[in-house]
Amino acid sequence: MTAKNMIPYVEGNSAIRAMFEEGARMAEQFGKENVYDFSLGNPSVPAPAEVNQAIRDILEEEDTLLIHGYNQSNSGYEDVRSTVAEHLNKLHGTSFTSQNIIMTVGAASGLNVAIKALVDPGEEILAFAPYFVEYGNYAKNHGAVLRAVPANTENFQPNLQVMQSMITEKTRAVIINSPNNPTGVVYSKETLTTLAAILEKCSKMYGEPIFIISDEPYRELAYDGVEVPYVTKFYRNTIVGYSWSKSLSLPGERIGYLVIPSEIDDFENAAAAANIANRVLGYVNAPTLIQRACARCIDCSTDIAAYDRNRKALYEGLSEIGYECTKPEGAFYLFVKSPIDDDVAFCALAKKYHILIVPGSSFACPGYVRIAYCVSYDTIINSLPHFRELLNEIRS
Ligand code: PLP
Repeated sequence: MTAKNMIPYVEGNSAIRAMFEEGARMAEQFGKENVYDFSLGNPSVPAPAEVNQAIRDILEEEDTLLIHGYNQSNSGYEDVRSTVAEHLNKLHGTSFTSQNIIMTVGAASGLNVAIKALVDPGEEILAFAPYFVEYGNYAKNHGAVLRAVPANTENFQPNLQVMQSMITEKTRAVIINSPNNPTGVVYSKETLTTLAAILEKCSKMYGEPIFIISDEPYRELAYDGVEVPYVTKFYRNTIVGYSWSKSLSLPGERIGYLVIPSEIDDFENAAAAANIANRVLGYVNAPTLIQRACARCIDCSTDIAAYDRNRKALYEGLSEIGYECTKPEGAFYLFVKSPIDDDVAFCALAKKYHILIVPGSSFACPGYVRIAYCVSYDTIINSLPHFRELLNEIRS
């Protein structure tokens, strides 16, 4: 018998699994090239050659006992953490040391570690809709409650006034994600300045810090020279969760890090809690070989031009057909207004045209759909006539 507390997770997973299975079935039936699968955020650009070379070099050059052994600290290799800290300092003018960095099993584990370390059961975490569906599960994992701040559909910057009205003495953290999945929006400096001012005020009012947990797997995927502000510079009580899943196309390697700045309230205890959370949640330490490879490739980046080409082709193509799209400034997702009120029904209808997309309801934002454009350029170009027929059917 399954533990009862897992039933909601299993039920929540069934829609995603159904879509995945549907995609595989359609590819078999119609041929892979005739199915336009925009459902998953799996990078379509291969990892840079330097990463593969770094792995080979490490295996040749370094002590295998050290490479494959447990890390001495649950937070990861000391030299890798120093390399990450120095890299961030160079980019953002911060003053982190290895003590501020905890290597994690991707952003997913980083977020779980941060929540475990900072949020007690029964406390609340706010997230701005639309948000990554897993946040709800991560909160639930630790007995915390995720509350959705309704979307600001005008420009998909966070709805800060509504957020302020939702803060209570139980609010312990706000998760933000920029560049955003699923909208591609980058949170502006103005947004972060106002967010920080509200959280300062409310932390004082309730006598407990309210943390920002900044989920940043898409930090490097920003287009047209758009700046992605570094959140610790706007708000002292910020924890950053970073991942190389998208920036180096390494999602299966499960590698990222948390930044816990020394300036946060009760830093020593928070850092110690996060270090132990890494172990007691069962991650123990981040995968060792890929920690070392990422440190060697700290200045590498993915081929952003390929995503940018897709972004332009999809945004311009769908806008020209008559879809209402939010112009993405980052990540690899396009958020589109569903031409019918029911976004779930729209995604079901799209399948008739071999198009697989995800309803906005899965991101707490009904009435919209997410199109992941981390696919081949041909998939985008070939899908456009099908998107046109789909809209024609709705309008006829
Ligand atoms: N956060 C967001 C917004 C994501 O889109 C994803 C993955 O798609 C994650 C976190 C998890 O990333 P990781 O593979 O680093 O665990």
